[in-house]
Amino acid sequence: MNKGIEIARGKTKVLYELQGSPDQVVVAQTDSISAGDGARRNEIPGKGRLAAQTTARVFRLLNLCGLPTHYLSGGEDDDNNEMLVRRCNMIPLEVVVRGVAAGSFVKRNPGIGRGALMVPRVIEFFYKDDAEHDPMISPDAIVARGIANPNEVGVMTELARLTFEVLSHAWRKRDVLLVDLKVEFGRLSGGPDKGALVIADVIDNDSWRIWPQGREELMLDKQMYRNLETVDDAALAQVKQAYEQVADLVGMFPVMRPGMAAVIGDTGERTESINAVVAALQQLGLPTVRHVASPSKTPGYVLQLVQQLEATFARLFFVAVDEDGSLRAMLDSASSSPVLDWRGDPSELALDCAKLLGLEDTVLYGRTLLMQANARSAVLHADALLQQPAPGSMPAGGALG
Ligand code: 5GP
Repeated sequence: MNKGIEIARGKTKVLYELQGSPDQVVVAQTDSISAGDGARRNEIPGKGRLAAQTTARVFRLLNLCGLPTHYLSGGEDDDNNEMLVRRCNMIPLEVVVRGVAAGSFVKRNPGIGRGALMVPRVIEFFYKDDAEHDPMISPDAIVARGIANPNEVGVMTELARLTFEVLSHAWRKRDVLLVDLKVEFGRLSGGPDKGALVIADVIDNDSWRIWPQGREELMLDKQMYRNLETVDDAALAQVKQAYEQVADLVGMFPVMRPGMAAVIGDTGERTESINAVVAALQQLGLPTVRHVASPSKTPGYVLQLVQQLEATFARLFFVAVDEDGSLRAMLDSASSSPVLDWRGDPSELALDCAKLLGLEDTVLYGRTLLMQANARSAVLHADALLQQPAPGSMPAGGALG
Protein backbone atom coordinates (compact mmCIF):
# COMPACT_ATOMS: atom_id res chain seq x y z
CA MET A 1 0.00 0.00 0.00
CA ASN A 2 1.06 3.55 -0.63
CA LYS A 3 2.09 4.26 2.96
CA GLY A 4 2.99 7.72 4.19
CA ILE A 5 4.46 8.70 7.53
CA GLU A 6 3.95 6.72 10.71
CA ILE A 7 1.09 8.16 12.80
CA ALA A 8 1.05 5.92 15.85
CA ARG A 9 2.55 2.73 17.23
CA GLY A 10 0.95 0.26 19.66
CA LYS A 11 2.31 -2.91 21.25
CA THR A 12 1.35 -5.07 18.27
CA LYS A 13 0.63 -2.68 15.40
CA VAL A 14 1.81 0.41 13.54
CA LEU A 15 -0.45 3.00 11.86
CA TYR A 16 0.58 4.93 8.75
CA GLU A 17 -1.01 7.68 6.74
CA LEU A 18 -2.17 6.71 3.25
CA GLN A 19 -0.61 9.11 0.79
CA GLY A 20 -3.19 11.32 -0.90
CA SER A 21 -6.10 9.99 1.24
CA PRO A 22 -6.43 11.94 4.48
CA ASP A 23 -9.50 9.95 5.61
CA GLN A 24 -7.79 6.57 5.33
CA VAL A 25 -5.07 4.89 7.35
CA VAL A 26 -2.92 1.77 6.92
CA VAL A 27 -2.76 -0.57 9.93
CA ALA A 28 0.15 -3.02 9.95
CA GLN A 29 0.13 -5.80 12.55
CA THR A 30 3.52 -6.94 13.83
CA ASP A 31 5.02 -10.21 15.06
CA SER A 32 5.05 -8.98 18.68
CA ILE A 33 3.10 -10.63 21.45
CA SER A 34 2.96 -9.18 24.93
CA ALA A 35 1.17 -9.65 28.24
CA GLY A 36 0.97 -7.99 31.62
CA ASP A 37 0.97 -4.43 30.18
CA GLY A 38 4.13 -5.25 28.24
CA ALA A 39 5.97 -6.90 31.17
CA ARG A 40 6.29 -10.06 29.05
CA ARG A 41 7.12 -9.52 25.41
CA ASN A 42 8.22 -11.82 22.57
CA GLU A 43 8.39 -11.99 18.80
CA ILE A 44 6.72 -14.87 16.98
CA PRO A 45 7.75 -14.75 13.31
CA GLY A 46 4.57 -14.91 11.22
CA LYS A 47 2.24 -13.79 14.03
CA GLY A 48 1.59 -10.43 12.31
CA ARG A 49 0.44 -12.27 9.20
CA LEU A 50 -1.99 -14.41 11.22
CA ALA A 51 -3.21 -11.42 13.26
CA ALA A 52 -3.89 -9.39 10.10
CA GLN A 53 -5.73 -12.31 8.50
CA THR A 54 -7.84 -12.87 11.61
CA THR A 55 -8.67 -9.17 11.99
CA ALA A 56 -9.56 -8.72 8.32
CA ARG A 57 -11.82 -11.80 8.35
CA VAL A 58 -13.59 -10.75 11.54
CA PHE A 59 -14.16 -7.21 10.26
CA ARG A 60 -15.34 -8.53 6.89
CA LEU A 61 -17.93 -10.61 8.70
CA LEU A 62 -19.07 -7.63 10.80
CA ASN A 63 -19.30 -5.44 7.68
CA LEU A 64 -21.38 -8.10 5.89
CA CYS A 65 -23.76 -8.13 8.86
CA GLY A 66 -24.16 -4.36 8.47
CA LEU A 67 -22.30 -3.40 11.65
CA PRO A 68 -20.26 -0.19 11.27
CA THR A 69 -16.51 -0.85 11.35
CA HIS A 70 -13.45 1.08 10.22
CA TYR A 71 -12.30 -1.78 7.95
CA LEU A 72 -12.10 -1.17 4.21
CA SER A 73 -9.81 -3.80 2.66
CA GLY A 74 -6.60 -5.81 2.83
CA GLY A 75 -4.92 -7.85 5.53
CA GLU A 76 -5.69 -11.28 4.13
CA ASP A 77 -3.33 -11.65 1.20
CA ASP A 78 0.36 -11.19 0.71
CA ASP A 79 0.24 -7.51 1.64
CA ASN A 80 2.75 -7.09 4.50
CA ASN A 81 0.00 -7.68 7.07
CA GLU A 82 -1.47 -4.30 6.17
CA MET A 83 -5.12 -3.39 6.08
CA LEU A 84 -6.78 -0.21 4.90
CA VAL A 85 -9.18 1.42 7.36
CA ARG A 86 -11.16 4.60 7.71
CA ARG A 87 -9.33 7.13 9.84
CA CYS A 88 -10.79 7.55 13.34
CA ASN A 89 -10.20 9.44 16.51
CA MET A 90 -9.96 6.57 18.93
CA ILE A 91 -11.96 6.58 22.15
CA PRO A 92 -9.55 5.52 24.93
CA LEU A 93 -11.74 2.68 26.18
CA GLU A 94 -11.61 -1.09 26.02
CA VAL A 95 -15.14 -2.45 25.91
CA VAL A 96 -15.30 -6.02 27.20
CA VAL A 97 -18.29 -8.30 26.63
CA ARG A 98 -18.53 -11.46 28.71
CA GLY A 99 -20.66 -14.50 27.97
CA VAL A 100 -18.86 -16.78 30.42
CA ALA A 101 -17.14 -15.79 33.67
CA ALA A 102 -13.34 -15.87 33.37
CA GLY A 103 -10.23 -13.73 33.69
CA SER A 104 -10.35 -10.49 35.66
CA PHE A 105 -14.13 -10.87 36.14
CA VAL A 106 -13.81 -13.89 38.44
CA LYS A 107 -11.02 -12.17 40.36
CA ARG A 108 -13.25 -9.15 40.98
CA ASN A 109 -16.37 -11.26 41.63
CA PRO A 110 -15.24 -14.23 43.70
CA GLY A 111 -18.87 -15.25 44.31
CA ILE A 112 -19.32 -16.08 40.62
CA GLY A 113 -17.83 -19.40 39.60
CA ARG A 114 -15.35 -19.56 36.74
CA GLY A 115 -17.14 -20.81 33.64
CA ALA A 116 -20.59 -19.56 34.74
CA LEU A 117 -22.78 -18.61 31.79
CA MET A 118 -23.66 -14.91 31.77
CA VAL A 119 -27.03 -14.02 30.29
CA PRO A 120 -27.65 -11.20 29.70
CA ARG A 121 -24.05 -10.54 28.68
CA VAL A 122 -21.97 -8.43 31.01
CA ILE A 123 -20.50 -5.30 29.42
CA GLU A 124 -17.55 -3.60 31.12
CA PHE A 125 -15.54 -0.52 30.23
CA PHE A 126 -11.83 -0.09 30.95
CA TYR A 127 -10.01 3.22 30.57
CA LYS A 128 -6.87 2.77 28.45
CA ASP A 129 -3.99 3.82 30.64
CA ASP A 130 -0.99 1.45 30.81
CA ALA A 131 0.55 3.25 33.80
CA GLU A 132 -2.68 2.64 35.77
CA HIS A 133 -3.15 -0.88 34.28
CA ASP A 134 -6.32 0.05 32.35
CA PRO A 135 -8.66 0.65 35.32
CA MET A 136 -12.32 -0.22 35.12
CA ILE A 137 -14.57 2.81 34.55
CA SER A 138 -18.32 3.19 34.95
CA PRO A 139 -20.61 4.59 32.21
CA ASP A 140 -21.33 7.59 34.47
CA ALA A 141 -17.63 8.32 34.90
CA ILE A 142 -17.09 8.02 31.13
CA VAL A 143 -19.67 10.76 30.61
CA ALA A 144 -18.55 12.88 33.59
CA ARG A 145 -14.94 12.85 32.34
CA GLY A 146 -16.01 13.80 28.83
CA ILE A 147 -14.63 10.60 27.28
CA ALA A 148 -17.93 9.94 25.48
CA ASN A 149 -21.48 11.27 25.68
CA PRO A 150 -24.43 9.21 27.00
CA ASN A 151 -25.68 8.38 23.51
CA GLU A 152 -22.22 7.13 22.51
CA VAL A 153 -22.01 4.97 25.64
CA GLY A 154 -25.35 3.42 24.61
CA VAL A 155 -24.20 2.85 21.03
CA MET A 156 -20.88 1.32 22.13
CA THR A 157 -22.72 -1.01 24.52
CA GLU A 158 -25.14 -2.15 21.81
CA LEU A 159 -22.48 -2.56 19.10
CA ALA A 160 -20.13 -4.45 21.43
CA ARG A 161 -22.96 -6.78 22.42
CA LEU A 162 -23.95 -7.36 18.77
CA THR A 163 -20.31 -8.03 17.83
CA PHE A 164 -20.08 -10.58 20.62
CA GLU A 165 -23.29 -12.33 19.55
CA VAL A 166 -22.22 -12.49 15.89
CA LEU A 167 -18.78 -13.90 16.74
CA SER A 168 -20.27 -16.20 19.34
CA HIS A 169 -22.59 -17.63 16.65
CA ALA A 170 -19.70 -18.08 14.21
CA TRP A 171 -17.58 -19.88 16.81
CA ARG A 172 -20.50 -22.01 18.02
CA LYS A 173 -20.84 -23.39 14.47
CA ARG A 174 -17.28 -24.69 14.94
CA ASP A 175 -18.02 -26.10 18.39
CA VAL A 176 -15.95 -23.37 20.04
CA LEU A 177 -17.24 -21.32 22.97
CA LEU A 178 -16.58 -17.58 22.81
CA VAL A 179 -15.97 -16.71 26.45
CA ASP A 180 -15.27 -12.99 26.27
CA LEU A 181 -14.19 -10.30 23.83
CA LYS A 182 -12.55 -6.89 23.86
CA VAL A 183 -13.43 -4.24 21.27
CA GLU A 184 -12.51 -0.61 20.79
CA PHE A 185 -14.33 2.25 19.11
CA GLY A 186 -13.40 5.37 17.17
CA ARG A 187 -15.18 8.40 15.75
CA LEU A 188 -14.74 8.74 11.99
CA SER A 189 -12.47 11.72 11.43
CA GLY A 190 -13.75 12.63 7.95
CA GLY A 191 -16.16 11.76 5.16
CA PRO A 192 -19.95 12.08 5.06
CA ASP A 193 -20.36 10.18 8.39
CA LYS A 194 -17.76 12.28 10.19
CA GLY A 195 -18.04 11.77 13.96
CA ALA A 196 -20.00 8.49 13.69
CA LEU A 197 -18.92 5.68 15.99
CA VAL A 198 -17.36 2.63 14.38
CA ILE A 199 -15.83 -0.58 15.69
CA ALA A 200 -12.13 0.07 15.23
CA ASP A 201 -8.63 -1.09 16.24
CA VAL A 202 -8.12 -4.82 15.64
CA ILE A 203 -10.05 -7.93 16.62
CA ASP A 204 -7.73 -10.90 16.56
CA ASN A 205 -6.72 -13.89 18.64
CA ASP A 206 -5.41 -11.52 21.34
CA SER A 207 -8.87 -9.96 21.74
CA TRP A 208 -10.94 -12.90 23.02
CA ARG A 209 -10.97 -16.09 25.01
CA ILE A 210 -12.12 -19.14 23.04
CA TRP A 211 -12.59 -22.61 24.47
CA PRO A 212 -13.11 -25.47 21.97
CA GLN A 213 -15.91 -27.79 23.13
CA GLY A 214 -16.42 -25.36 26.01
CA ARG A 215 -13.28 -26.77 27.67
CA GLU A 216 -10.88 -24.20 29.07
CA GLU A 217 -7.92 -26.59 28.90
CA LEU A 218 -8.30 -26.68 25.09
CA MET A 219 -8.02 -22.87 24.76
CA LEU A 220 -6.62 -21.50 21.49
CA ASP A 221 -6.26 -17.78 22.32
CA LYS A 222 -3.63 -15.51 23.82
CA GLN A 223 -4.38 -16.77 27.32
CA MET A 224 -2.08 -19.69 26.36
CA TYR A 225 0.79 -17.21 26.19
CA ARG A 226 -0.23 -15.37 29.37
CA ASN A 227 -0.32 -18.71 31.23
CA LEU A 228 3.16 -19.90 30.12
CA GLU A 229 5.47 -20.63 33.02
CA THR A 230 8.52 -20.90 30.79
CA VAL A 231 8.69 -18.95 27.56
CA ASP A 232 10.95 -20.89 25.22
CA ASP A 233 11.00 -21.67 21.50
CA ALA A 234 8.92 -24.82 21.91
CA ALA A 235 6.24 -22.97 23.92
CA LEU A 236 6.12 -20.11 21.39
CA ALA A 237 5.83 -22.62 18.53
CA GLN A 238 2.76 -24.09 20.25
CA VAL A 239 1.24 -20.63 20.64
CA LYS A 240 1.87 -19.95 16.95
CA GLN A 241 0.21 -23.23 16.00
CA ALA A 242 -2.93 -22.17 17.88
CA TYR A 243 -2.91 -18.77 16.14
CA GLU A 244 -2.64 -20.55 12.77
CA GLN A 245 -5.57 -22.78 13.60
CA VAL A 246 -7.65 -19.75 14.65
CA ALA A 247 -6.82 -17.76 11.48
CA ASP A 248 -7.89 -20.79 9.40
CA LEU A 249 -11.16 -21.25 11.30
CA VAL A 250 -11.97 -17.53 11.10
CA GLY A 251 -11.42 -17.77 7.32
CA MET A 252 -14.83 -19.46 7.09
CA PHE A 253 -16.63 -16.74 9.07
CA PRO A 254 -17.42 -14.21 6.30
CA VAL A 255 -18.79 -16.83 3.94
CA MET A 256 -22.47 -16.36 3.27
CA ARG A 257 -24.60 -19.43 2.60
CA PRO A 258 -27.91 -17.70 2.05
CA GLY A 259 -29.92 -20.47 0.39
CA MET A 260 -32.90 -19.72 -1.83
CA ALA A 261 -36.38 -18.38 -1.16
CA ALA A 262 -39.04 -19.58 -3.61
CA VAL A 263 -41.93 -17.11 -3.41
CA ILE A 264 -45.03 -18.67 -4.94
CA GLY A 265 -48.45 -17.08 -5.41
CA ASP A 266 -51.66 -18.96 -6.25
CA THR A 267 -53.00 -16.45 -8.82
CA GLY A 268 -51.73 -13.67 -11.04
CA GLU A 269 -53.43 -11.21 -8.67
CA ARG A 270 -50.73 -11.92 -6.10
CA THR A 271 -47.98 -10.37 -8.25
CA GLU A 272 -47.82 -7.17 -6.21
CA SER A 273 -47.59 -9.09 -2.94
CA ILE A 274 -44.98 -11.44 -4.41
CA ASN A 275 -42.87 -8.46 -5.45
CA ALA A 276 -43.18 -6.86 -2.00
CA VAL A 277 -41.98 -10.10 -0.39
CA VAL A 278 -39.10 -10.41 -2.85
CA ALA A 279 -38.02 -6.79 -2.23
CA ALA A 280 -37.97 -7.35 1.55
CA LEU A 281 -35.95 -10.57 1.17
CA GLN A 282 -33.50 -8.93 -1.19
CA GLN A 283 -32.85 -6.21 1.37
CA LEU A 284 -31.52 -8.94 3.62
CA GLY A 285 -29.39 -10.28 0.78
CA LEU A 286 -31.52 -13.39 0.23
CA PRO A 287 -31.71 -14.67 -3.33
CA THR A 288 -35.22 -15.38 -4.55
CA VAL A 289 -37.20 -16.99 -7.37
CA ARG A 290 -40.83 -16.08 -8.11
CA HIS A 291 -43.64 -18.22 -9.51
CA VAL A 292 -47.40 -18.37 -9.84
CA ALA A 293 -48.88 -21.86 -9.53
CA SER A 294 -52.40 -22.79 -8.49
CA PRO A 295 -53.27 -25.85 -6.40
CA SER A 296 -56.75 -26.01 -7.98
CA LYS A 297 -56.01 -25.06 -11.61
CA THR A 298 -52.40 -26.26 -12.13
CA PRO A 299 -51.70 -28.78 -9.33
CA GLY A 300 -49.26 -30.68 -11.54
CA TYR A 301 -47.22 -27.53 -12.00
CA VAL A 302 -47.06 -26.92 -8.23
CA LEU A 303 -45.66 -30.42 -7.76
CA GLN A 304 -43.26 -30.04 -10.68
CA LEU A 305 -41.97 -26.72 -9.26
CA VAL A 306 -41.37 -28.28 -5.86
CA GLN A 307 -39.38 -31.13 -7.39
CA GLN A 308 -37.38 -28.87 -9.71
CA LEU A 309 -36.50 -26.35 -7.00
CA GLU A 310 -35.59 -29.01 -4.45
CA ALA A 311 -33.33 -30.71 -7.00
CA THR A 312 -31.62 -27.39 -7.79
CA PHE A 313 -31.10 -25.54 -4.49
CA ALA A 314 -29.70 -26.50 -1.13
CA ARG A 315 -31.16 -24.62 1.85
CA LEU A 316 -34.38 -23.92 0.01
CA PHE A 317 -37.55 -22.65 1.60
CA PHE A 318 -40.94 -21.64 0.24
CA VAL A 319 -43.10 -18.61 0.88
CA ALA A 320 -46.76 -19.29 0.03
CA VAL A 321 -48.63 -16.18 -1.06
CA ASP A 322 -52.29 -17.18 -0.98
CA GLU A 323 -55.44 -16.36 0.92
CA ASP A 324 -57.25 -19.63 1.55
CA GLY A 325 -54.19 -21.63 2.66
CA SER A 326 -54.56 -24.35 0.00
CA LEU A 327 -51.26 -23.52 -1.74
CA ARG A 328 -49.50 -23.54 1.59
CA ALA A 329 -51.07 -26.93 2.43
CA MET A 330 -50.01 -28.40 -0.90
CA LEU A 331 -46.44 -27.11 -0.60
CA ASP A 332 -46.31 -28.45 2.95
CA SER A 333 -47.30 -31.94 1.93
CA ALA A 334 -45.28 -32.08 -1.32
CA SER A 335 -41.98 -30.62 -0.17
CA SER A 336 -39.37 -31.48 2.44
CA SER A 337 -38.35 -27.80 2.77
CA PRO A 338 -39.83 -25.30 5.25
CA VAL A 339 -42.90 -23.38 4.06
CA LEU A 340 -43.67 -19.92 5.43
CA ASP A 341 -46.95 -18.03 5.23
CA TRP A 342 -47.40 -14.61 3.77
CA ARG A 343 -49.15 -12.61 6.49
CA GLY A 344 -49.34 -9.19 4.88
CA ASP A 345 -46.18 -7.63 6.33
CA PRO A 346 -43.08 -8.12 4.14
CA SER A 347 -40.58 -7.02 6.81
CA GLU A 348 -42.02 -9.47 9.36
CA LEU A 349 -41.73 -12.23 6.81
CA ALA A 350 -38.15 -11.20 5.97
CA LEU A 351 -37.25 -11.38 9.66
CA ASP A 352 -38.74 -14.89 9.91
CA CYS A 353 -36.78 -15.99 6.83
CA ALA A 354 -33.54 -14.50 8.14
CA LYS A 355 -34.06 -16.29 11.46
CA LEU A 356 -34.67 -19.56 9.68
CA LEU A 357 -31.51 -19.34 7.56
CA GLY A 358 -29.59 -17.60 10.35
CA LEU A 359 -29.56 -20.90 12.22
CA GLU A 360 -26.75 -21.91 9.85
CA ASP A 361 -25.57 -18.61 8.40
CA THR A 362 -23.76 -16.15 10.66
CA VAL A 363 -24.15 -13.24 8.23
CA LEU A 364 -27.94 -13.59 8.20
CA TYR A 365 -27.95 -14.16 11.94
CA GLY A 366 -26.06 -10.85 12.37
CA ARG A 367 -28.41 -9.04 10.00
CA THR A 368 -31.36 -10.34 12.01
CA LEU A 369 -29.87 -9.06 15.27
CA LEU A 370 -29.18 -5.68 13.69
CA MET A 371 -32.73 -5.40 12.32
CA GLN A 372 -34.09 -6.16 15.78
CA ALA A 373 -31.72 -3.67 17.44
CA ASN A 374 -32.72 -0.96 14.94
CA ALA A 375 -36.42 -1.69 15.53
CA ARG A 376 -35.84 -1.42 19.30
CA SER A 377 -33.97 1.84 18.98
CA ALA A 378 -36.70 3.29 16.70
CA VAL A 379 -39.28 2.60 19.44
CA LEU A 380 -37.06 4.10 22.14
CA HIS A 381 -36.39 7.13 19.95
CA ALA A 382 -40.11 7.67 19.31
CA ASP A 383 -40.80 7.39 23.03
CA ALA A 384 -38.02 9.87 23.86
CA LEU A 385 -39.49 12.35 21.36
CA LEU A 386 -42.88 12.11 23.07
CA GLN A 387 -41.29 12.85 26.43
CA GLN A 388 -39.84 16.12 25.17
CA PRO A 389 -42.01 19.05 26.28
CA ALA A 390 -43.84 20.78 23.44
CA PRO A 391 -42.66 24.38 23.03
CA GLY A 392 -44.27 26.58 25.68
CA SER A 393 -45.82 23.67 27.61
CA MET A 394 -45.17 22.50 31.19
CA PRO A 395 -42.32 19.99 31.56
CA ALA A 396 -43.52 16.40 31.11
CA GLY A 397 -44.22 14.49 34.31
CA GLY A 398 -44.41 17.66 36.38
CA ALA A 399 -45.91 15.85 39.36
CA LEU A 400 -44.37 18.28 41.87
CA GLY A 401 -46.22 21.23 40.34
P1 5GP B 1 -9.94 -9.74 31.33
O1 5GP B 1 -10.53 -8.45 31.82
O2 5GP B 1 -10.70 -10.93 31.83
O3 5GP B 1 -8.47 -9.83 31.57
O4 5GP B 1 -10.10 -9.74 29.73
C1 5GP B 1 -11.36 -9.78 29.11
C2 5GP B 1 -11.19 -9.98 27.61
O5 5GP B 1 -10.60 -8.82 27.04
C3 5GP B 1 -10.27 -11.13 27.25
O6 5GP B 1 -10.77 -11.75 26.07
C4 5GP B 1 -8.93 -10.48 26.93
O7 5GP B 1 -8.22 -11.20 25.96
C5 5GP B 1 -9.38 -9.12 26.41
N1 5GP B 1 -8.44 -8.07 26.77
C6 5GP B 1 -8.32 -7.46 27.95
N2 5GP B 1 -7.34 -6.50 27.91
C7 5GP B 1 -6.83 -6.54 26.68
C8 5GP B 1 -5.79 -5.81 26.00
O8 5GP B 1 -5.12 -4.92 26.54
N3 5GP B 1 -5.56 -6.14 24.70
C9 5GP B 1 -6.27 -7.11 24.07
N4 5GP B 1 -6.00 -7.38 22.80
N5 5GP B 1 -7.27 -7.79 24.66
C10 5GP B 1 -7.53 -7.53 25.95
